[in-house]
This record gives sequence, structure tokens and C-alpha cells, in this order.
Amino acid sequence: MKDLKSRITVFPVKSGSVFSSAFDASLLPPTGSFTVFPGFCDVHVHLREPGFSYKETIRSGTLAAARGGYTAVCAMPNLSPVPDSPAHLEEELRLIRRDAVVRVFPYGAITAGEKGEALSDMAALAPLVAAFSDDGKGVQSESRMRQAMLEAKRLGKLIAAHCEDESLLRGGYIHDGAYARAHGHRGICSESEWGPIQRDLRLVKEVGCAYHVCHVSTKESVALLRQAKREGLDVSCETAPHYLLLDERSLREEGRFKMNPPLRSPEDREALLEGVLDGTIDMIATDHAPHSAEEKARGLKDSPFGIVGLETAFPLLYTHLVRPGILSMDKLIELLALRPRERFGIPLGEEYTAWELDRPFTVDPGDFLSQGRATPFEGETLFGVCRLTALEGRIVYKNDT
Ligand SMILES: [Zn+2]
Repeated sequence: MKDLKSRITVFPVKSGSVFSSAFDASLLPPTGSFTVFPGFCDVHVHLREPGFSYKETIRSGTLAAARGGYTAVCAMPNLSPVPDSPAHLEEELRLIRRDAVVRVFPYGAITAGEKGEALSDMAALAPLVAAFSDDGKGVQSESRMRQAMLEAKRLGKLIAAHCEDESLLRGGYIHDGAYARAHGHRGICSESEWGPIQRDLRLVKEVGCAYHVCHVSTKESVALLRQAKREGLDVSCETAPHYLLLDERSLREEGRFKMNPPLRSPEDREALLEGVLDGTIDMIATDHAPHSAEEKARGLKDSPFGIVGLETAFPLLYTHLVRPGILSMDKLIELLALRPRERFGIPLGEEYTAWELDRPFTVDPGDFLSQGRATPFEGETLFGVCRLTALEGRIVYKNDT
């Protein structure tokens, strides 16, 4: 083991020394050269339990997270039951305590049952949840959202909004652009996303609560958030790897290209990348949204929205943005590991992940630890293989080959 040091690069973390002091090189596989990063943190995953174990379980979802380098994830509340009260949330927490291999921070719902009507029991949920969200649905009523923001502010919690105006959807399921027109599909217009963002930013200005926008996908959304930050509002946002690396020109007639929001135009993709580079976009989340193989086999029109992302996010971003010099590794780690923790108040403990960066592999959904298999990146060759993820001295993922 005399050459162990020469085989390891520990990525420096500027904020605090917790990570570097906790790194235990003896856990690493005996062969290979590794770059060690602080454990990634994904603020937007769907673990599907309780309620939808046929799509994913807390166990399979967190194993997939560990393989992707994540040691902390925030779980969205579109579950059954919806975590809108401490009793309902306890059903989720019980499964997390029993089955999770990485740290899971549940979201509490903004409204009871995510129905957009009465508020959830936000005060009782606040100490137990990462933030509040009705993800999967937008809060349609402006007065309800104002009420939720006032309560979130009083409780010192973040509102994480899925922004979608249902009155503008008109049965759409992919971006309302060139591909939809050429292939006779119903489109989802960009305004269905940026309209609610614009509304909410007005409310944030009035109320003064901390506000985060989920999965930003349009150029107008980026411009609105850039302006809001200039005005000093307490806002943040995320986008996902597929919105940065794909656009409607990549679409095929398969369910694995369908997610909400949809893949937008090349101009939208460019604007998102600019937003990442200038700091308008704070973090990259996966919106890991697994479904069964049967559900996703129904094609672009009829399959449910959602693709998996935990096991491919880092290799995709590293291969397509860092290796060509578009994004620095510092910036990528800020987007994947540091900024999400800072914004959502998730401390970085003794948690890290070790990667072989120069090693290529081909994305093979058959080999995912997630139960979900739908990814538009199937068959792509990428760089970066995770060899170890560890949390508080425990190995949560290891690849010895
Ligand atoms: Zn969403």
C-alpha cells in the first residue's frame, strides 16, 4: 500500500475541514486511481415510497443514489399517503429509518394531499422536513401560495416550487416546439413554467420568504430568476442534467424521452447553461423519477412523465461539461454537493465518494440499482466510474472491479 497516496486525489473543500479530516483511505478498493469528492446532495428525487413500491423503493432509490456518489437526498412528497401531517409523514420516516442507505430528508407537502386547497399541517411538519413542496403539481391558486409563503416564512422554511400553470397545458406532453409540430404531438408551452415563476417572484417580494424553483427548463425562467437575484430576493433554483445536455432535437418516440418539464429548444438549453455559469442557477438536481418498465413502454404520448437520473448525473456532467472545459470541476462540485447543502441547511458530515475519472463505461439501464430503467442516455459512453461511497465510516456503495 506504499503507493496509496499517489493513487488518491482528495478534492479540496473550501467550507470547513469536516470532509478532509473524515476521509478514510483504508476503505478504498485496493487498485485504481481515485478522485475523492464530498458526498453529493440531490434536493429533488422521487423515492416512491410509501405508495408506489412497484416503481421504486427507499432501498433501491438510495442504493442508486449511493452509486451515483450521493450521500444525501431530499425526497419529494407525491406519495401515498402524502406527507401533509406528522402521522402521514411518519409512514415515510419509518421506511427511511428501516431501508435507506444514504441520508434522506423528506419534503413536507404545501397543501393537504397536494390538492392545492387547504394548507398542510406546516407548523407541525416544519421540524421534520427539508422544505415544503407540492412537486408533481403547481400550486394553482395565488392566494393559497401567498398563505403558504407567509407560513413558511414564520417557520423559517424554504418553499420549493414545481411551477406549472395547468390552465396552459391543453393536453400537452412534450415541448411546444419544432419536434411537436413536425410529429403531430401536443405541446407544453414555456409560459406554463415561467408564468407561475413570475407570479411567485411577485409574492416573494411581497412576503419575503425563502423560495426555490424546481427543475427550471426555459430561457424566460432563467431571465426572471436572474432579475430577482439582482433585486436581492431570497431565491434559488435548480436544473437537471437532461435540460443542460439535451433539447427537443434529441427526442425520439419513446417514453424514456418524456419528463416534466419537457426537453425544450436549443435556445433554452443554451440559456440554462449560461444560468449555471453566471450563478443564476444554484444547483443541479436529478429529478430522479422512476416508473415501471411497462409504464414507460407506452411511448412518448402515453407513458407517464419521468426519467431516472441518480446513477448517471455525475458522469454525464463530467463527460460533457467538465472534460471539454465548459465547466470547472470546482463549479461542478459546488452545484452537486456544496450549494444544495447550504441552501437546504443539510450539513456535510463524514461523507465522501471516490471516482475513477478516466475510466469509460456505457450506460446500461439493465445494470442500474434503481428499479427505474428509463433514461434518454441509454447506450451513451461516458467517463467516470464510482468506486466507493461512504457515510459516517460505513461503506454504502463499493465497486471492486
Ligand atoms: Zn416537479
